[in-house]
Amino acid sequence: MKCPRCKTENHSRSVCSNCGKFLYSADYRNGKKLTEKELRDRDRRTVFRFFKKIGKGVWLILAIIVTSFWLFLFMYFLLS
Ligand SMILES: [Zn+2]
Repeated sequence: MKCPRCKTENHSRSVCSNCGKFLYSADYRNGKKLTEKELRDRDRRTVFRFFKKIGKGVWLILAIIVTSFWLFLFMYFLLS
């Protein structure tokens, strides 16, 4: 993460190694509130990520159902 004040590259640090500025959740520490639009964007991203996570599970279940369906059809025609 790059320090917004002195542009020093800090690898997974919460405080800048050069100037000591807080890098992690700096907005809250400075008391600066997110604007309405930024909040909505963040909410949308969270919802999107949530659906993406669920979507993966749904695809897995669908794949299992389709596979077992074809297996069933195959066995049905094989045995009849
Ligand atoms: Zn810095």
